Amino acid sequence: MSTQGKLIIFSAPSGAGKTTIVRHLLKEIPDLEFSISATTRQPRGDERDEKDYYFISKEDFLHRIAKKQFVEFEEVYSGTFYGTLRSEIQRIWDKGKHVIFDIDVEGGLHLKRKYEEHALAIFVQPPSLEVLKKRLTGRGTDSAEKLAERFVKAEKELNYAPQFDIILKNHELETACAEAKVLVTDFLKKDI
Ligand code: 5GP
Repeated sequence: MSTQGKLIIFSAPSGAGKTTIVRHLLKEIPDLEFSISATTRQPRGDERDEKDYYFISKEDFLHRIAKKQFVEFEEVYSGTFYGTLRSEIQRIWDKGKHVIFDIDVEGGLHLKRKYEEHALAIFVQPPSLEVLKKRLTGRGTDSAEKLAERFVKAEKELNYAPQFDIILKNHELETACAEAKVLVTDFLKKDI
């Protein structure tokens, strides 16, 4: 049988701060390793292939779907696919580590349903939709059209919060990071 570690899932609308929290936990908890997703979008800013994402073509992505290489995938934005490769989870478990995900809300729930008690699904809740919009606009990395699409998706995603194991309020980043560390450390200690 293949090795099975645990899965820590962080989901939220983009701009809620989940990426910052995930990076903090990766620094603080050495047993965790980041699940690098595959995506068909272009790298942003200083993002690097095989570190932030596996940046692949749409053709390659569709081929991998056909070969059932993904545990989950979503067309997160129209024409842009994101997905978790089975091989990525196994790669991390084989090293004796637990996997941490920064993933969209539907993808997060999908993984939770699949891995059940082996997974902890945390929804990062921004203070309000207004704050979220401000953060997304402030990033300055997306076109007006892409921003509008992210706003619509964010509004819809906030309704999914109750389906997660835990709702982590991110009103103040430092507090949210500290709370996340306690939650994850406790979950990793638990026998399943
Ligand atoms: P971004 O383009 O801002 O990096 O990501 C857009 C959204 O896609 C974010 O909510 C991010 O968490 C999500 N995402 C990243 N990787 C995956 C994945 O493997 N599967 C799914 N379903 N969503 C992902």
